[in-house]
Amino acid sequence: MTTFATTDTPLAEILDADLALRLGTAFGHRTVGDLLHTLPRRFRRQGQRVDRKSLVEGERVTVIGRVERLSSSTYTTKKGSRQRQRVTLVVNDGGIEFEVVFFAGWGIKNILPVGTEAMFDGTLSTFRGKLNIKHPEFLILATAAGRSGELKGSGNLAALAELSAKVEAEGGESLFGRRFLPVYASREGVTSWEVFGAVVTALRALIPVVDPLDQSVIDAVSLMSLDDALHKAHMPSSQEEMDAAGYRLRFDEALALQLLLGARRRFFSRDPAPPSPVRGDGLRAAMWSRLPFALTAGQQSVLEDISADLTRDQPMNRLLQGEVGSGKTVVALLAMLQVLDAGRQCVMLAPTEVLAVQHHRSLTAMLGDLGEGGRLGAAEGATRVVLLTGSMSTAARRQALLDIVTGEAGIIVGTHALIQDSVDFFDLGLVVVDEQHRFGVRQRDRLRTKGRDGLVPHLLVMTATPIPRTIAMTVFGDLEVSELGELPGGRRPISTSVVPAREKPRWLERTWERVREEVAAGHRAYVVCARIDGDDDKPAAKDDGSIPLTAAVDLHHSLSTGPLAGLRVGLMHGRLSPEEKDTAMTAFAAGRLDVLVSTTVIEVGVDVPEATVIVVMDAERFGVSQLHQLRGRVGRGGLSGLCLLVTNSRFDSRAMDRLNAVASTTDGFVLAQLDLTQRREGDVLGDAQSGALSALRILSVVEDGAVIGIARQYAEQILDSDPGLHAHPALAERVFRLVGSEESAYLERY
Ligand code: ADP
Ligand code: MG
Repeated sequence: MTTFATTDTPLAEILDADLALRLGTAFGHRTVGDLLHTLPRRFRRQGQRVDRKSLVEGERVTVIGRVERLSSSTYTTKKGSRQRQRVTLVVNDGGIEFEVVFFAGWGIKNILPVGTEAMFDGTLSTFRGKLNIKHPEFLILATAAGRSGELKGSGNLAALAELSAKVEAEGGESLFGRRFLPVYASREGVTSWEVFGAVVTALRALIPVVDPLDQSVIDAVSLMSLDDALHKAHMPSSQEEMDAAGYRLRFDEALALQLLLGARRRFFSRDPAPPSPVRGDGLRAAMWSRLPFALTAGQQSVLEDISADLTRDQPMNRLLQGEVGSGKTVVALLAMLQVLDAGRQCVMLAPTEVLAVQHHRSLTAMLGDLGEGGRLGAAEGATRVVLLTGSMSTAARRQALLDIVTGEAGIIVGTHALIQDSVDFFDLGLVVVDEQHRFGVRQRDRLRTKGRDGLVPHLLVMTATPIPRTIAMTVFGDLEVSELGELPGGRRPISTSVVPAREKPRWLERTWERVREEVAAGHRAYVVCARIDGDDDKPAAKDDGSIPLTAAVDLHHSLSTGPLAGLRVGLMHGRLSPEEKDTAMTAFAAGRLDVLVSTTVIEVGVDVPEATVIVVMDAERFGVSQLHQLRGRVGRGGLSGLCLLVTNSRFDSRAMDRLNAVASTTDGFVLAQLDLTQRREGDVLGDAQSGALSALRILSVVEDGAVIGIARQYAEQILDSDPGLHAHPALAERVFRLVGSEESAYLERY
């Protein structure tokens, strides 16, 4: 075993081989640096009360306190007639009492008599209403007579006690006398104490770490030195030290991430794109003069930005955020026409086939004879909009692919999956990605290769789900962001109410009456369910008294024969074929159906101006952003919209709080933030998780927005003078370590 280590030293050189191996398997830790750059999950403070709310049954808990009472009883084992003794200690930790139970605990009475101060570590359960820990590891901190001088314990705690003795022999503080005891995530049988032991061993061996940051940055951001931070992050002596150390390590990770994203952005902006200046006599100008409405100020200003981007010979990389109904489609259309006027093709990608079909239809309608290229009676210079979907016949598909590769097709609409993988273009100039905020870095990279003669197509990503700034900076660190704030004239705010079906059944009846009233007024209604039919969820009937989810198929039947009898009620869900779905959607859009019962296949982008009410069943099953998206389906045609969120949740439940929040605001950004705090990060990032994001160890893109923002500023500053990080080898090394060689390759090409 070596006595000295750097952050690059393999753990196997300083730890017991078995522990090193298990740390690798459980956490992926290979080196001292891997271990030390992982922060404790929390700190256990000596003398601090246990937080009752943080106590979770089945989780590991560490209790530090005095043995207040002790009782024992004998019991007979099931198998035979052997008499055993069960010893129960009552331990008081800062006012909360725990029962600590040892079976066959003959010796325990002598080892842990009343008055002993000890630490117990085990799994929490409850027994007859009392907090209970069975067979914990323990460590005696002080006997009834006072501090023992020698720590005695069991299991991992005993091993840690030995280590503590060594630390003390070297003049250090006892590990257990510390004010803040780190608690690490335990995983795959590696306990928090084992991690702590490994950390202590690593810190004892670590020679001072050279700081990879310029002193000027350290000073400007008031950062703790890295060497200090690695120690204090695990063994702080005050709250301030703990905070400063954590901040430094987060900053470093945020910086590495932003250096990576900044380098990518710079790297790609070196590739040329097809410049497409605005023409006064082209399709764009013709379309503009035919628009049935005036563009809002927001639409105009966004268009100016996009138009300027498209004119340049550098690829546009722009994210357009705008509420549902804010009029993104017409912006996209005018952008596409600008590129068509330069003689190049455009593609519009939708997340689902239903949406692709709808886009194809609405683009064609907006263009009118400008979109009838190749047909008699078309306007001069007219283009052609081609749909490409998985469910087209082979012949139709072959024809579409031919039109695309020969350049006959000007605008191609389809799903991402389809177009990204299998289509060759004649001369692709612009890619528009609709309703897809989770469109990740890798997917964007694939599109970059679809241009002609090495030119990189311009890219416009559109989303109605507002993305908080920090997420935009990480997931979309390489995109510019535009926002469409206002809704175009004629859009009315949607009013939302929660219908507590279990607590107020009468309100549910009223809901269906409202639907009838809207239909009587010539309007249409959506009814959305969380599931398709009775078989698509595991237990159909639960025995815990909870009400099973409403299934679309069942509800369609019961509404048609019950509360909505006499109305034309349609059904649409994900298990129908694309043609069936399209038929249902078309019938609803054309007014041949009054009510459409469906699953969330209608979620995004669908535009039926006459739809004025949307009823969401089991609304608590949907995410906040999803509900916001769903209600955006109504009130699109100058008519007021109504959204009714039906739920069986109780009044005092968190689910009900969430639904009330959705009902109380239509501000998408407020809701997006609410959504973030309630969901796990992985869900929020979804497919957009690039290698870099999944490699983050301590940074939370949800919580560490401020650090990310500052790190981005310094990353830009560093890259401005040193784009390949040649003068900052230690930083280049951090980037490399964060994401590996494939992703950090951009740095090397400078
Ligand atoms: P988004 O895709 O952002 O949800 P759409 O582009 O589908 O919104 O627009 C919603 C509706 O508003 C469409 O019917 C569209 O024709 C209409 N619209 C768009 N811009 C304007 C405008 N400036 N004035 C009036 N109506 C508009
Ligand atoms: Mg849209």
